[in-house]
Order: sequence, then structure tokens, then C-alpha cells
Amino acid sequence: MNETPIAQKVEQLFQQQMLDWPLIRDNYSALENAQVRELALGDSLIILQHNPERLRSSAARIDAASIASRPCFLCDENQPKEQKALLWDCGRYKIQVNPYPIFLRHFTIASNEHIPQSISNPARVDDLLKLAHELPDYVLFYNGAKCGASAPDHFHFQAGLRQMLPLCAEVINPIQWPDESILESDADGFIGFNQRLGRFMFLIKTTEPVLAGLYFARLQLAMMGALGINEEPKQNLLCWYEDGDYYIVVIPRLKHRPSCYGDGENQFVLSPASVDMGGLWTVPVKTDFDKLDATSIKAIYDELCLDNATAVSIIDCYLFDKE
Ligand SMILES: [Zn+2]
Repeated sequence: MNETPIAQKVEQLFQQQMLDWPLIRDNYSALENAQVRELALGDSLIILQHNPERLRSSAARIDAASIASRPCFLCDENQPKEQKALLWDCGRYKIQVNPYPIFLRHFTIASNEHIPQSISNPARVDDLLKLAHELPDYVLFYNGAKCGASAPDHFHFQAGLRQMLPLCAEVINPIQWPDESILESDADGFIGFNQRLGRFMFLIKTTEPVLAGLYFARLQLAMMGALGINEEPKQNLLCWYEDGDYYIVVIPRLKHRPSCYGDGENQFVLSPASVDMGGLWTVPVKTDFDKLDATSIKAIYDELCLDNATAVSIIDCYLFDKE
């Protein structure tokens, strides 16, 4: 493991919570024994993880009224007394062990304020990159308010062990980023797009966090311009730091839940967010776990992610604005 001071403290927090909090112990032990299945989707590996504890999240009501009427589980006053926190960045965030994990190490990094999930403030992207640098064994992720955030009313990132997320190893292969896919580049890095991994995505790779922030901001404007919206586009973000490079994968979303969502015949209880977009699918229902195949996963990606025409219009907007 790479040991930065924060990484050490995060590991200590995890070990302490495993000792002190039976819920954490039980859920992480169960995850170690979770059934998994691997599927091949073109160049991409998909891992299905049967994870019954995540049913609360996958089947959660996500309409605004339901969110507004429940106590916020990221605010201190509503958290169980066993839940401990590590304060980060002068207390602007608290890092906590996620009690319902998808990763063998899974943390939530929540703002100290109860303010909405939005990454439109550039300071948030700086925070994301800084966290990635300080937790080099992890992939940081951000679920947009309307595509997977279980607390859209309280700003948060999450972090999971990067080696468990297939996409992270796949996107760093230069074969995925031929010259014609690059939108903009300079000596320190580039931004490009990828259609070869079964779902449309943008990738930023730079040695300089400032440049990553700049490319990200331009991409946000291009997405808003192409989609004709004045709010944050629906998106999932993955971010990590590896061998001197910062990576941000942006997966724009057209929809949150697929049309096959449900518990009827030919339906699946799936609520895809950043981690599913990264190739690790949380499947809470056993019959779904047995039934899902590469064709059904591909159909869901096709429905939820950018179609070709929308992707082209975002690319055109980016290239036009750049001039
Ligand atoms: Zn809150």
C-alpha cells in the first residue's frame, strides 16, 4: 500500500471501526465472501457483485419529496454514535467508513455543511484531485445529484480500493486514446473521449491538477451548451492519481435508472452509479445476479449513457469553445 499520512489515518480509522462497530465488521466480512461473476463486454471487464445489503440503496426512493422528508444520514446529528470520522482539509470534510460497502475499503467523504450535491464550484474539483493525491490506492468518485447520489442534499465524494474497479486499469492503456479521440492537449496532459469500452466517456489525464481543473471546467460548459441546460449535467466521475498522473473519467448520463428497473419478470433492481459505470455492478437480488449477462449490461449502458448524436454535439461544443 502507498502510505501518505492521510492514507495511514484512513486505514487506522477503518481498523478501529472494525473493532468497535459490529455493523461494519459484519458488512465488510460479508463482502469478503460476496459472490461475483465476470462478464466480457468488448475490451471491458464487467464484474457483478451479489450484495444484498445494498438493496436499501438500490431500491431507495429518490424523488425530491422522499429525500426532503428523511433525516440526512450524512449530518452528524443523525449518525449512529458508533460512526467515527476523520476530519480532512481543516475540517471542511469528514472521512467515514461506509457502513454498506461495495469495496473492501469504502469511505464516504462528506462536506461539513449540509449543502446540495453539486460540483459546479471549481474548488470541489480541486478537493477531488487533492484527495486522489492523498489516497493513491483509491479511486475517488462523485455521483451527480440525479444519477446515483444517495444523499443529493448533502455534498459528498466516496473512495474505494482502486484495484477492485476494472475501468481504472482499462482506461490507462494508451490504445484507448488514439490521436483522433483527443480534444485538447499540451505538454502536461490531454482530454479525450472513448467509445470503445462499451459506454461513452471522457478522460482527462494530466500531471498538473490545475490543468485537470481547466479541462474539466471546459467540458462542463460544453456539456451544458450541447444539452441546452443551465445546471450541472447528469454525470458520474471517477478520479485517481497514479504514477505521477491525475485521471478524471467523466461519464455523462442521460438517465439514472434503466427502464428495466423493478422486481417483476425481466426486470432488475439496479440503480447504476459511478461504480457500476466503472465496471463493478452492485446486484442486490440473487435472481438478478444469476440472470444478468453481457447483453443486458450493454443494453443498460446504451440506455443510460450518451448516444452518438449527443456525444458528437458535446464534442463539437468543446472544440468550438476552445477556438
Ligand atoms: Zn446532511
